[in-house]
Amino acid sequence: MGQDEAVREIKERLDIVELVGDSVPLRKVGKNLRGLCPFHAEKTPSFYVSPERQTFHCYGCGRGGDIFSFVMEREGLSFPEAMEMLAERAGVEIRRSASGKRNLSEIMEIALGFYRESLQSPSGEAARKYLGTRQLAPSAWSQFELGWAPPAWDALWSLLQKKGVSRQEALACGLIIEGQKGDYDRFRGRVLYPIRDIAGKLTAFGGRILSGEGAKYINSPEGPLFNKRALLYLLPLAKASIREIGAAIVVEGYMDALRLHLCGFRNAVATLGTSLTAEQAALLKRMADRVLICYDSDAAGQEATLRGMTLLQKEGLDVHVVELPRGKDPDELLASSGGPDLFKLALGGAIPLPLYHVHARRATLEGPGRKKVVEEILEGLAELPMLDLAPHLGSIASSLGIFSHQLAEILRDRLLAVKKFPSESEKRESASDRVYVNEGDKGRGLPPDPWEAALLFLLWKSPEKRSGLAPEAILPLVSDEKVQGAVAAVLNGETPESLQGRWHETNDRFLEAALAVGGDFCEAFNNMEDAWLKVESSLRKRVIEKEYRSLREKMTRGLATSQDMSRLNELARILKGRR
Ligand SMILES: [Zn+2]
Repeated sequence: MGQDEAVREIKERLDIVELVGDSVPLRKVGKNLRGLCPFHAEKTPSFYVSPERQTFHCYGCGRGGDIFSFVMEREGLSFPEAMEMLAERAGVEIRRSASGKRNLSEIMEIALGFYRESLQSPSGEAARKYLGTRQLAPSAWSQFELGWAPPAWDALWSLLQKKGVSRQEALACGLIIEGQKGDYDRFRGRVLYPIRDIAGKLTAFGGRILSGEGAKYINSPEGPLFNKRALLYLLPLAKASIREIGAAIVVEGYMDALRLHLCGFRNAVATLGTSLTAEQAALLKRMADRVLICYDSDAAGQEATLRGMTLLQKEGLDVHVVELPRGKDPDELLASSGGPDLFKLALGGAIPLPLYHVHARRATLEGPGRKKVVEEILEGLAELPMLDLAPHLGSIASSLGIFSHQLAEILRDRLLAVKKFPSESEKRESASDRVYVNEGDKGRGLPPDPWEAALLFLLWKSPEKRSGLAPEAILPLVSDEKVQGAVAAVLNGETPESLQGRWHETNDRFLEAALAVGGDFCEAFNNMEDAWLKVESSLRKRVIEKEYRSLREKMTRGLATSQDMSRLNELARILKGRR
């Protein structure tokens, strides 16, 4: 399939609302959707997505375009990379790049296929038995794509070699390990859980050992595909439900997350053996306002976990901590009889994070180390936004045995101290924010003029206009060089698709933005023809006024020829007639 054709095919299959909605919370406004711009910092949404035109546009920073420009801008990809990513999402085959480099996630899919087959094969008996004891039926194995890595040294590696996968590629995927006596499979004798990123790309495996030596759980190593700080297990399955409910349940283990999904709690995801990170917080914030943390009770009270939850709260998420009865983990509770109802009850009783700081330490609050514990609690609370704390001040104060106005004062003092000396992580955060904004600003000039943008949009949309109009009659109406270039191209028979391909290759967002601005502008008219008449005549008038002004200036400076004078009179007549 040629590139133009692939671009068209991808655009047909993908919906910009869904694509953008994966990373930007959108609300319906009329026939468009609106959200906070992901490319510049703003408090009131000025970022619009048009399902009809399949475009986005931000009135704040002027960025706009189609699904390709969105992915390029958002993920920092080149056009070919964005194309590859979108083609994969759309299930469109595109030509391999000239380098012939194989896509790493393709190799991961080969591995997954092998692991899934192995689970069904005679060698997978132990695994099937184990999954049976965990009350996971074969339907769940396929729903969650569970696999089995046989306890052999090179079962996968020899298969990959047969498929032409290079050693370098297998290493980059983290599927094999370099040994002194040769390379060997990383996962051996383990039940495997594939880990996909938000777009569904297979990036890693988590493996649970069944017998013998080794850690109970291991993950793929971090590498070009896998950054565990930025992933949540089952997120691609959970995201629709998270968005719908506006809340995510976060658990620790693979099994916990699976079980929640099987019991109908489809907004559950699991962290991958890390404490919660800023990346995960940002990921969740795209889809939800609320997060319910459901860790086992020991883990939830630990410093690192509390810090992680604080991080989430600071990202603007409303964090609640779920406590399960009798210290069970979610999997155990849900697998027991009446489990789902008990779990629902526990969700309902989730404790807001500000209160949880006291709650987690309630046992030690009575003991001899009280002073130190109070100090720790205050330290933790001071990290939280004051607005989030305010509703709970009274309750916290009474637990600590002080008045709430005292507590408010203490926290305010600490807050000020924190503001004066930003913590290391805050310094890092703000530094990276700056970089982000600057990078996004690259190549950004003035926003497109709406009238000229509208002209381009109307030509873009109408093959009849494009073929019926002479370039020399239209081009003088446009003053912006870039818009002029695009108008010239389409009037000279270049197709919008090929033009768009060129913009992408040169990384040019201005014209995409112009199309979006133009499209919005034209919406004010009843139909395209009305819009065209108004736009064309307004631009024409503008050109005449400009010429008139410059001739007037010439005249007042005494430089006008007799020809200029008669032209000036003619222009004056035209302008008068038009008014
Ligand atoms: Zn913006």
